[in-house]
Amino acid sequence: MTQPTGLTVVVDNQPVPLDECGWIQRRPCGCIVAALVAVSGNRVVATAQQAHEHLNKGKRERAAAEREGITVATTELITMTHYREHIGAKWECERHQPSVQA
Ligand SMILES: [Zn+2]
Repeated sequence: MTQPTGLTVVVDNQPVPLDECGWIQRRPCGCIVAALVAVSGNRVVATAQQAHEHLNKGKRERAAAEREGITVATTELITMTHYREHIGAKWECERHQPSVQA
């Protein structure tokens, strides 16, 4: 058990504890490439910049991601509830979703 951070963020105009949030990073098309819980133990990721740096460690990796259009601007804060209800295993955008075989 870890102590809640007590930090509050606003997601979709609702104040929520940062501890109940996560970051997702998308490609320009909308596919999710990475997800990260905002708070884990002593690690607190409170800004999109921090999330981007955590998910793309090192300048070179970050530069490579940015060349693909994966940037701070495509890094979003979402609630874990939103993740469970709307994302879950569906990381691909509509264009890249595997088509259902009849
Ligand atoms: Zn896509």
